[in-house]
Amino acid sequence: MKIQMVDVKRQYLKLKNEMEPAVLEVLESGQFINGPAVHQLAEDMQHYLGVKYAIPCASGTDALQLALMALNIGPGDEVITTPFTFVATAETIAILGAKPVYVDIDEKTFNINPELIEAVITPKTKAIIPVHLYGQSADLDPIISIAREHGLSVIEDAAQAVGENYKGKKVCSLGLLGCISFFPSKNLGAYGDAGMVVTQDEEVAEKVKMIANHGSKTRYYHNILGVNSRLDTLQAAILRVKLKYLDQWNQQRHANALYYSEKLAGLGITTPYIAKYADHIFHQYTIQLESDRDELQLYLNEKGIPNAIYYPIPLHLQDAYRETSGYKKGDFPVSERMAERVISLPMHPDLTREEQDFIVDAITEFLGRS
Ligand SMILES: *Cc1c(COP(=O)(O)O)cnc(C)c1O
Repeated sequence: MKIQMVDVKRQYLKLKNEMEPAVLEVLESGQFINGPAVHQLAEDMQHYLGVKYAIPCASGTDALQLALMALNIGPGDEVITTPFTFVATAETIAILGAKPVYVDIDEKTFNINPELIEAVITPKTKAIIPVHLYGQSADLDPIISIAREHGLSVIEDAAQAVGENYKGKKVCSLGLLGCISFFPSKNLGAYGDAGMVVTQDEEVAEKVKMIANHGSKTRYYHNILGVNSRLDTLQAAILRVKLKYLDQWNQQRHANALYYSEKLAGLGITTPYIAKYADHIFHQYTIQLESDRDELQLYLNEKGIPNAIYYPIPLHLQDAYRETSGYKKGDFPVSERMAERVISLPMHPDLTREEQDFIVDAITEFLGRS
């Protein structure tokens, strides 16, 4: 049995009849940059997420950088986020000369613990970036109310959670800015790099749009410092085909997760927790093992079952940040513990019950013998 962590090929074959004409239309149009599909995708996403403005850009990482730049975040500023995330969340803060300030995670949801945020706010704090990790919303209400009280902006890193709801509302629409990644393995994946910034605020939207376009509104007149960050027409056309299926795919992921959890119950491992306020669209299905996680990984590798550890090293302990940040081992005990316990199993909408049974059997076998 050849199981994939994320089966982009299987999905493509199902979409082939719709995808090929959409791609060919772009090739024949010759409008590879800023073609009509780019604008249409922005409109589709505004409608889908219930936001007023959507600005396509080159990647999820760029989306974060553009959002931070639009808020004038730079040297001397601090931005609060979680150390248990993909590096891009903190990297974009640091590249602008600001300091990532970490807050430990909640041990059930893996997301930033709102109760610990106020203690790290200083006069230098400008923004909070909650990450909706593994496809489950962070607890946004308390985060947004703390931000409001202290005059901070909330930027949602929704790279892993496009389509997720928080208390029935789409994530991305609740903070001042929302950042999306269309990396191929994300829940809504392009066939290359792509990303998007969304907001309800007209002034912020205007600024993000200018920054993504070399700081320019009128061609060759550059009012502010900008970058080049575009989502190309081919990717836009591809994403428009896929967006129609996103809710269905997210439901299938959720159903697959429930099946895993039912089959893995009672084996002494911790299966994912679904918070009352979240839907959980299972970008990842991540279990926790008390002690022998690395041995399970070797066992799965031997059986040819793909798996991954997101993330083996919390950001405050990464070489690139450790020396300058002043953080040390022990500062964020929950994140550090999770980094040693978590392992993610194959998860995508087209995973079959037969494949899941095979994976569950392997885990059961492993746990039985140790
Ligand atoms: C994938 C990801 C990003 C970066 O997105 P890219 O499109 O790969 O640049 C940022 N934050 C998180 C949490 C991610 O998972």
